[in-house]
Amino acid sequence: MKLKCKKCGNDEFFYIKEKFSGETELVVDALGELTNLNAGAYDEMDSHLKSVFYYCSECDSKVGKIPKDKRY
Ligand SMILES: [Zn+2]
Repeated sequence: MKLKCKKCGNDEFFYIKEKFSGETELVVDALGELTNLNAGAYDEMDSHLKSVFYYCSECDSKVGKIPKDKRY
């Protein structure tokens, strides 16, 4: 699966919304892999609701559904 924003054409960076006593954003690349821009963020996540959608880093549009094996 390759992500691309239909609205603004961005095909590089996307994010996942995580909800747990607030909200944080994880940057992923076009293949849905976590990038190294998330240093430090991952450690703090433990029990929280899994995000289901990718969002565009450029325009915040919902870009696509996250496959089960790519949900962090
Ligand atoms: Zn976009």
